[in-house]
Amino acid sequence: MNNKRIGIIGSGPSGLAQLRAFEALKDKGVDVPEIVCFEKQSNWGGMWNYTWRTGVGKYGEPIHGSMYKYLWSNGPKECLEFSDYSFDEHFEKPISSYPPRPVLFDYIQGRIKKSKARDYIRFDTTARWVEYNEETKKFTVHLDDLKIDKTYSEEFDYLVVASGHFSTPNMPYFKGIENFPGNVIHAHDFRGADQFKDQNLLLIGSSYSAEDIGVQCYKHGANSVTLSYRSNPIGVDWPEGIKELPLLTHFEEDTAFFKDGTTEKYDAVIMCTGYQHKFPFLPDELRLKTKNNLYPDQLYKGIFYNDLPELIYLGMQDQYYTFNMFDTQAWAARDYIMGKLDLPTKAERRVDMDKWLERNEALETGADHVDFQTDYIKDLLSLSDYPDFNVDKVSEIFKQWLRDKEENILTYRDKTYKSVVTGTMAADHHTDWMDELDDSKERYLFEEEVKEEEEFVSDRL
Ligand code: FAD
Ligand code: NAP
Ligand code: MG
Repeated sequence: MNNKRIGIIGSGPSGLAQLRAFEALKDKGVDVPEIVCFEKQSNWGGMWNYTWRTGVGKYGEPIHGSMYKYLWSNGPKECLEFSDYSFDEHFEKPISSYPPRPVLFDYIQGRIKKSKARDYIRFDTTARWVEYNEETKKFTVHLDDLKIDKTYSEEFDYLVVASGHFSTPNMPYFKGIENFPGNVIHAHDFRGADQFKDQNLLLIGSSYSAEDIGVQCYKHGANSVTLSYRSNPIGVDWPEGIKELPLLTHFEEDTAFFKDGTTEKYDAVIMCTGYQHKFPFLPDELRLKTKNNLYPDQLYKGIFYNDLPELIYLGMQDQYYTFNMFDTQAWAARDYIMGKLDLPTKAERRVDMDKWLERNEALETGADHVDFQTDYIKDLLSLSDYPDFNVDKVSEIFKQWLRDKEENILTYRDKTYKSVVTGTMAADHHTDWMDELDDSKERYLFEEEVKEEEEFVSDRL
C-alpha cells in the first residue's frame, strides 16, 4: 500500500476531478494513497452548488458561490464534456447544447456518484492555514470543523489547492459612489434578475459577467441596461434596451458621468469587475499570485508550483475549457503523485513556463485565446492516460460559439453542436432561450410532458 497522504482543498469541479482521477486508478486495481478532501460548504460542486445566501454562510464563513438563478451555460456543453463520462451516458438521451445550471450540476455529480469518493470529503470544514516543513517534507493543514466549532490539524505529503478563483470580488472605487442612493453590489452577490425588474441598471465591466447579467436582466424585465467598459466594449449588436458606454468617471447622487460626456440616472449598480485570486489559508511563499489570465506564472504545466511541486494548483487559469481541462490537470497531477510522471529540473521547468508566458503575452483575438488553451490541453493530454478527445474539434466549436454570440447575443444559446466524445448531435431545447424563464431540471428534461401540457393549454384557448 502506498503510504503517502494527499490533501485536497475544495470539492468543486477541480477537486472532484482529482478524486475521480484516483478512483479511475482504483478501478484498475491499483493501490492509491490516502486522500482527504476539505470542503467548507455542506455539499460538493463548488460554484455549481447554488446558494441563495450572500455575505456569510450559516457558520459565518465568506460565501463562496457567485452563481445565480436563471444561469445557463455560457458556452456549448460539447466544449466541457468529460471524455470518460459522456452526456449520453448520464442523461440517456440527447439534450441541448446550453443547459441551465441545475442540469450541469446533475451531470457533474453523476460521474462522482459512481464511486465512493464522497467518503473522502469532510464537509463544513475550512482550511485555515498551511505550513510546509522543509525537513519532514510535509504540509501541515490547520482546519476548522465548522459544525462542532473545533480546530485541528493534519499532515500531508502532497497538497492540492482546488479552491477556485471566481469568489473574492474585485471592487473598484468610483468617486461619489458612496452617495449613490440605490443598490450597489458586485456580481458575486447577484442572485437573479427578479429584484431589478423595471429598473435602470448600470453594469461596470465588459466580460462574461457583464454580458450575462446584462442580458439576463433584460430578459427578465429590467427597464434598461447600460454596460460601462474600461478597455474594450463587448461590441455586439445590442437589442433596444441594452447599450455600452465608455468608463464612468464619477457619480453625483444617482447620476453617473461617463468619459464621453454622457450623463444618466440609475436605480442600481452591479460591478461586473472580476475576481481576485485569494488564498487566505496560504503563507506568502506558497501562495499563487496572479491576475485572471490563461497562464498564471509560477505554475509548471499550469499546475505544479515551481518552487515546490508537491504543492499543486488546479483550475487557476482563466477558462474557455472547464471540466475537461480540470480533468487533464488532475490526471497529470495524479501521475506525478504516483511516481509515474517525472518532472524536469526547476530551471528546465522555468524555461518551459517562460515559453508559454511569452506566447500568452502576444495573444490578441478571442480565437488566439482559444488556440492557446487548446494547445495547453494537448500538452497536458500527452502527460497522462486521460482518454484523448478531439481537442481541435472542440476548438472549432469554441470559435463558432464566438461567432454565434457576435451574430446574435440573444439567440446563440439556441444553437446545437455535436459531441466530440460520442458523436451525438445535441437536441433542440423545447423552448427558445429568450422565452424560457424556468431553469429547473424538471422543466428542462421532461420535454414530452412540457409539450403535451402546452398543446393541452393551447387546445383550450
Ligand atoms: P469552484 O467551483 O469555485 O470550487 C472551489 C471549492 O473550494 C468550493 O466548493 C469552495 O467552497 C471550496 N473552498 C474554497 N476555499 C476553501 C477553504 N479554505 N477550505 C475548504 N474549502 C474551500 N464554467 C462553465 O464551464 N460554464 C459556465 O456556464 C460557467 N458559468 C460560470 C458562472 C459564474 C458566475 C462563475 C463565477 C463561474 C462560471 N464558470 C462556468 C466557471 C467555474 O469557475 C467552473 O465551471 C468551475 O466551477 C471551477 O471549478 P473549481 O473547482 O476550480 O472552483
Ligand atoms: P473577468 O472575465 O475577469 O472580467 C473582469 C471584467 O472587469 C473585465 O471586463 C475588466 O475590464 C473589468 N474591470 C476590472 N476592473 C475594473 C475597473 N477598475 N473598472 C472597470 N472595469 C474593470 O470576470 P467575469 O466577467 O466576472 O467572469 C468570471 C468567470 O465567470 C468567467 O469564467 C465566466 O465564464 C464566468 N461566468 C459565466 C457566466 C455564465 O453565463 N454561465 C456568467 C457570468 C460569469 P478590462 O477588460 O479593462 O480588464
Ligand atoms: Mg494521453
